[in-house]
Amino acid sequence: MAKIQMRTPIVEMDGDEMTRIIWQMIKDELIAPFIDLKSEYYDLGLVNRDATDDQVTVDAAEAIKKYGVGVKCATITPNAQRMTEYNLKRMYKSPNGTIRAILDGTVFRTPITMSCIKPTVRTWVKPITIARHAYGDIYKCVEYRVPTPGKAVLTFTDNEGKELYNEVVFEYKTPGVLMGMHNRDDSIASFARACFEYAISIKQDLWFSTKDTISKKYDHTFKDIFAEIFENEYKAKFDELGITYFYTLIDDAVARVIRSEGGFIWACKNYDGDVMSDMVATAFGSLAMMTSVLVSPDGNYEYEAAHGTVTRHYYKHLEGEETSTNSMATIFAWTGALRKRGEMDGIAELVEYADKMEAASIKAIMDGYMTKDLKGLCELDEIHVLNTGDFIKKVREYYEAM
Ligand code: NAP
Ligand code: MG
Repeated sequence: MAKIQMRTPIVEMDGDEMTRIIWQMIKDELIAPFIDLKSEYYDLGLVNRDATDDQVTVDAAEAIKKYGVGVKCATITPNAQRMTEYNLKRMYKSPNGTIRAILDGTVFRTPITMSCIKPTVRTWVKPITIARHAYGDIYKCVEYRVPTPGKAVLTFTDNEGKELYNEVVFEYKTPGVLMGMHNRDDSIASFARACFEYAISIKQDLWFSTKDTISKKYDHTFKDIFAEIFENEYKAKFDELGITYFYTLIDDAVARVIRSEGGFIWACKNYDGDVMSDMVATAFGSLAMMTSVLVSPDGNYEYEAAHGTVTRHYYKHLEGEETSTNSMATIFAWTGALRKRGEMDGIAELVEYADKMEAASIKAIMDGYMTKDLKGLCELDEIHVLNTGDFIKKVREYYEAM
């Protein structure tokens, strides 16, 4: 059979450790035999990031802006131990953080679901996607450990030196803690647009929640910006697609999410999204089954697995031991990117390939072929645990048989 032809390249970002090994296996077994892959390759492995002073990460992000679609392998975010292990010139920032800052994007995380893996929450029958506003709030705060009695004051001075605001936060009689945090209208607006764009792109309802009843300026501003952008820019399109935008208080959202059947996007402020995405991932089964896509407000997409480089398995692999690392999320990163490329370029075969490859990998698991991590989660009588490479080969068999 002739290989599927592509028009525009996708931006391919290679990574580290076990996921780098999986990356190559997926390309060899699941992509190269079927697609004449057009990609612009960036090696974001830590060795090359160090060699290029991290310029490669910036170049990759710029390339995503140019082509619109990227796929990224998990990468090491260096810490002190990695400095020695890789003999690094400096402690580079997280590549995901760098790319997100350049694209001004929002991260959407969705679990891969199938009927043999039952979520902890019985009512959930469809995936729940969490969108996290990845800017500001406590992640960019200033904080102070108050040592003695005294007074904390919040002031704001404009660029002309005029003090516009001055209010006592608290008069301490004992030691305590103090924090100042911020957000920006333009960042909140980008977040809102990315959420509305993504809801349209996958044709699902969008929920948004904050604590606006308590935080009448800070959180209420989030609510107002979302409402205004929705009314002015997206309402007509949502109506046309039959999807809704729904705002509610975070407490109410939590209760409704637990009682829901899933199948929607839940947009969260930075901290809520951090916490809720871990809860939703765990309740759906496994981090190894969580996909992630970064969407920019102007419609660029970067797909990846939500998990890291699976270091523990990699060290075993280096020792010559057999591994059983789950490649599902990385496979879905590739299919997500190729489907989006197909949609953007009007190449139906590419979209079909992505649908079929995802269906094949799910069918393989439903028939009992899976990696070790899924064994305990799967409600099947007969389970065959495969090693890393054999699972990918099994998916190819299923794809070819479909
Ligand atoms: P991790 O790589 O996600 O792995 C944590 C544990 O989760 C693994 O040891 C494994 O458990 C399980 N796991 C995760 N993915 C799996 C998969 N595909 N198949 C089977 N089991 C899987 O997180 P980490 O160990 O905290 O971080 C490792 C490195 O990844 C760090 O250097 C970190 O900086 C980086 N990281 C990168 C990204 C990214 O690029 N997006 C995200 C997070 C972390 P068992 O060991 O029990 O089998
Ligand atoms: Mg978290």
